[in-house]
Amino acid sequence: MRPLVDTESPLPIARRGLMLVISSPSGAGKSTIARSLLEQDNRFSLSVSVTTRKRRPSEIDGVHYHFITHDEFDRLRNGDALLEWAEVHGNFYGTPREAAEKAMREGRDMLFDIDWQGARQLQDQAKADIVSIFILPPSMAELRSRLNRRAEDSAESINMRLRNAKVEIERWRDYEYVVINDDLDRAFAAVLSIVNAERLRRDRRPGLFDFTADLLEQAERLMEE
Ligand code: 5GP
Repeated sequence: MRPLVDTESPLPIARRGLMLVISSPSGAGKSTIARSLLEQDNRFSLSVSVTTRKRRPSEIDGVHYHFITHDEFDRLRNGDALLEWAEVHGNFYGTPREAAEKAMREGRDMLFDIDWQGARQLQDQAKADIVSIFILPPSMAELRSRLNRRAEDSAESINMRLRNAKVEIERWRDYEYVVINDDLDRAFAAVLSIVNAERLRRDRRPGLFDFTADLLEQAERLMEE
């Protein structure tokens, strides 16, 4: 069977990358969907966040996160090295600026697995490049059982994540797309459709309309002078 996503055609030269932001409450399946997308679509690279959270047994430093201390986090944040940052479930998380900006300059698509606070900060900075998807779990009961099945967090951490889930779910309106993950294959297919459609948008095609994002940048620079 042919792959659903066209990864063969060469990248248009003058195209800026797509910033795909996927958010969801913890346990709604976002990481699984993100992983499948990275496996199937080699145009995407993952923005690897920094975090002060303790590493889970299954996680690899530098692959899933850069695990750092509070002091290191403060240094990055104060040095403007983070594109966005937030405190989530009692830990700090942030997106390294350099890697994301390099990918965008090179026209590569980048995937951001970040929470609603981070999504909002990116929207404020790069609206034209962002595509945002919120993944909803089918029910709170299912969310709880997925968190328990994962069994990588303490009971205390799982309870905090469940309490926070309702606050996060309230943010679904901030996103352009909402996908309910009641079936992983279906949810993944929906995410692929969104990506495919967004790549076909006129203002992301090479040619006349391609300079929209650059014009926005230019206007913002002028305002700051
Ligand atoms: P976890 O601890 O389960 O890996 O992630 C907890 C939450 O933090 C998830 O909702 C995840 O999307 C979010 N998160 C991970 N990295 C970042 C980041 O760099 N910035 C923001 N704002 N949220 C992040």
